[in-house]
Amino acid sequence: MESFETLAVRTQAQRSNYQEHSVPLYLTSSFVFDDADEMAAVFSDEKTGYQYSRYNNPNVDEFCAKMARLEGAEAGYAYASGMGAIFSTLMALLNAGDHIISCASIFGATHVLFNNTLKRWNITTSFFDINSPQDIEKLLRPTTKILYAESPTNPGCDLLDLEQLAEIAHQHNLLFVVDNCFATPYIQQPIRFGTDIVLHSATKLLDGQGRVLGGVVVGSQELINKIYLFSRGIGATLSPFNAWVLSKSLETLAVRVEKQSENALKIAEFLEQQPEIERVTYPFLPSHPKFELAKRQMRTGGNMVACEIKGGLKAGKQFLNSLKMCSITANLGDTRTIVVHPASTTHCKLTKEELTAGGITQGTIRVSAGLENVNDIIADLKQAIHGE
Ligand SMILES: *Cc1c(COP(=O)(O)O)cnc(C)c1O
Repeated sequence: MESFETLAVRTQAQRSNYQEHSVPLYLTSSFVFDDADEMAAVFSDEKTGYQYSRYNNPNVDEFCAKMARLEGAEAGYAYASGMGAIFSTLMALLNAGDHIISCASIFGATHVLFNNTLKRWNITTSFFDINSPQDIEKLLRPTTKILYAESPTNPGCDLLDLEQLAEIAHQHNLLFVVDNCFATPYIQQPIRFGTDIVLHSATKLLDGQGRVLGGVVVGSQELINKIYLFSRGIGATLSPFNAWVLSKSLETLAVRVEKQSENALKIAEFLEQQPEIERVTYPFLPSHPKFELAKRQMRTGGNMVACEIKGGLKAGKQFLNSLKMCSITANLGDTRTIVVHPASTTHCKLTKEELTAGGITQGTIRVSAGLENVNDIIADLKQAIHGE
């Protein structure tokens, strides 16, 4: 039963006495004990059992177990949001004075976390350019603990060779942490390339229907234990309701992402032929600078397409304003196609230099392909480009 689709559908919490087919929602903040001795045994870890939903809950456990199996990891822990997962994981593993090396092309809020928030605890970050991973070794310090990356990147859809980065990290005793949000485990499993810790914003493709926020971390039992003991104490825990929704969503992840990738490729091919579009970046387009790597590392090209419209900020805004069906909203990976302009929204807190380093220009447009009929999506993009 090791195939992806079967694990996604058949990994489920133990049935209750009612023998339900679909897993019920365990909407409870705590769990009762037969007597004081049993409670004491569970609290002292002599006996395993549910105690309190900030620690563990059957719905949250099911979601974590499923994500760990889909990513090929030993264990996982889930959070109220993707940022909750990223912040808690880093804080669980780092001490004041430690140093991170990260690719410059990362999610906007993660950039702010590295550049502003973590500095308050004297945790500093050095960035390497996505096209120069050989610079990583020049940035090493005795205090460096973590190598951090995303592939494909948000919003540029650029790629990193995960196997190569894992090798560099392990040569220098660093933990290699990957945000696998854009790919999902259906497309790539970073653990198989040597990644130590995989993070997700479950808000995106894992839910895939724009309903709930969530985050998850997976890795070895040893690392997850450390992260779990820290995280259960600080309260960024995933709610049982959101876990129940997310676990159901994973049952359809493979079919959704497969179809969304098919739509995204057609959208990318269409955009590449438009004279108003300067450049299209999609991993499975032969024109992608890392097309060979994409084919080696990824099952499909994913649902995200980046392009650059001629005319910069003004043309970018006009394009968004002309859309009739596609949504202008701060999410991605939804069943509905979403178009955003990163420079003025998701990445607006970055300086000009940081934007350039992250491969974002004033004309960058990010399309998250949904599940509408692809002809309708392309027709909307077409009329918005040409003003028909
Ligand atoms: C959205 C996103 C996050 C943050 O997730 P939230 O659920 O919004 O907190 C982190 N990384 C990437 C790549 C994202 O797209």
